[in-house]
Amino acid sequence: MTAQAPPELPSPGQRRAWWLREALAAERPSLLAPSLFGDVSADVAIVGGGYTGMWTAYFLGEMSPATRIVLVEADICGGGPSGRNGGFLHGWWEYLPYLVKRYGAADGLRVAEASDEVVDGIGEWCRRHGVDAWFTQRGYLRVNAFPTVANDWGDTVAEMDRLGAPGQLVHVDRPAVQAICASPAFGEGLFMPSAATVQPALLARGLRRVLLERGVQIHEGTTVQNIESTSGGVRLRTARGSVHAERAVLSVNAWAAGWPGFRTRVLAWGSYMVVTEPIPDRLVELGWTGGEAIADSRFTISYFRTTRDGRIAFGAGVGAAGFGGRIGPVFTHDRQAIERVVANLRHLFPMLDDVRIDDAWGGPIDITADRFPEIGSRQGGRVLYAHGFAGNGVGPARLAGRILAARVAGGGDPIAFLPLFGRRQRPLPPEPFRFVGARAIREALIQQDDALDAGREPGLLTQLVARVPSLLGYRFRH
Ligand SMILES: Cc1cc2nc3c(=O)[nH]c(=O)nc-3n(C[C@H](O)[C@H](O)[C@H](O)COP(=O)(O)OP(=O)(O)OC[C@H]3O[C@@H](n4cnc5c(N)ncnc54)[C@H](O)[C@@H]3O)c2cc1C
Repeated sequence: MTAQAPPELPSPGQRRAWWLREALAAERPSLLAPSLFGDVSADVAIVGGGYTGMWTAYFLGEMSPATRIVLVEADICGGGPSGRNGGFLHGWWEYLPYLVKRYGAADGLRVAEASDEVVDGIGEWCRRHGVDAWFTQRGYLRVNAFPTVANDWGDTVAEMDRLGAPGQLVHVDRPAVQAICASPAFGEGLFMPSAATVQPALLARGLRRVLLERGVQIHEGTTVQNIESTSGGVRLRTARGSVHAERAVLSVNAWAAGWPGFRTRVLAWGSYMVVTEPIPDRLVELGWTGGEAIADSRFTISYFRTTRDGRIAFGAGVGAAGFGGRIGPVFTHDRQAIERVVANLRHLFPMLDDVRIDDAWGGPIDITADRFPEIGSRQGGRVLYAHGFAGNGVGPARLAGRILAARVAGGGDPIAFLPLFGRRQRPLPPEPFRFVGARAIREALIQQDDALDAGREPGLLTQLVARVPSLLGYRFRH
């Protein structure tokens, strides 16, 4: 018997991601908001129509309904990573030890609690506004799929108890993991019960609809070239017009890596995804019918969840770093990254070898020195910004948007005074060192993950290179 050839892989970057195509198809009619022609004025101008920019606009409308808001988006709202991510929705319980180290015990816990609001908050928001973004709250399971590496998840659970968050992360033994999803590669795991999943593009497009209904002036297909201070506030320049406003909010995710003032603050890194054909019967065989979000223990993390029509959407942080803040084809057209994603899928689910891959896509994620968002202001408080979600922004972008809105509105929302605002992180190395270093480190990380997946000890040089960021004092690991 001859072995069946693996099914052909789609090339990434040829069309919009599956999530967004589905969401746009459900919009009747789906009209582009007009590009900006000429000069307009507003109280607040927002750059970027992803979750961060749109939540900022939403909360600003709630806190200060008379505020005139103009939102400018280079593509369409949700055309960036907000419309093509994995849809894992959770706060920062995994980061609690880091948060406590950074902000102290009480404030660290307060930040983690505020970040947890995003899950119920988004579920409730979708219900209130009639947005069916497939909100499914079945938890997030992190599994150890390295056959010869023990994890210290028992310690993590004990630490959560000690830090005042008992039950937010739960240790799950191998049989219980297998009951959730029967991959032969899965060992024990750590479960976050509060987490959910969404169809990411339906959430983004739902936000856009609500903003338009509320009178936010949206200009799509319009790139902001720069933001200059003026006597009365700021002026945003675009190819064919400008926006004058008292304040601007820069919510451009990894594109911040190309903005003056942020070039050594943000590293853009690629994350890629595929979606399989519908395989509901195979999901039943796996016992994976509960809708849990799952990720493995690789540094270049593989993350996967199911869809309503019984597909697996599977992603991995195996893309490459960009150069000099340019967000180019390396983040959207990297076929080798897709091959790696699919290899990871086949490794974890060898019984799905014959399953067709229906779509493949990628996008940039925004990494800071601490792998944690920077939310703050510059130009004398006239320009506010938030970025640095490091591949975990579906939920936290809502928190960031609320903080930015509260800062702009100047009201009494205590969220504005969380210590998250205004804490800068250390700079990343300048180019070309950053690019060369990031590429070498990425290769080492992938090799290390591959070796551990195969139950081998990674080579010494690989281990050394993979540790360089930590040796330089960057918080590169979660
Ligand atoms: C493949 C992939 C999978 C991911 N999976 C998950 C996940 O499962 N869970 C999770 O929590 N996070 C995930 N993320 C990360 C998550 O998608 C982001 O953190 C989140 O969408 C950030 O929202 P944002 O609004 O800050 O950025 P974006 O959605 O990127 O929005 C920024 C927008 O700014 C626009 N823009 C940029 N420059 C300009 C300019 N000069 N003028 C006008 N507009 C401009 C861009 O076009 C873009 O639409 C994933 C990311 C990727 C790429």
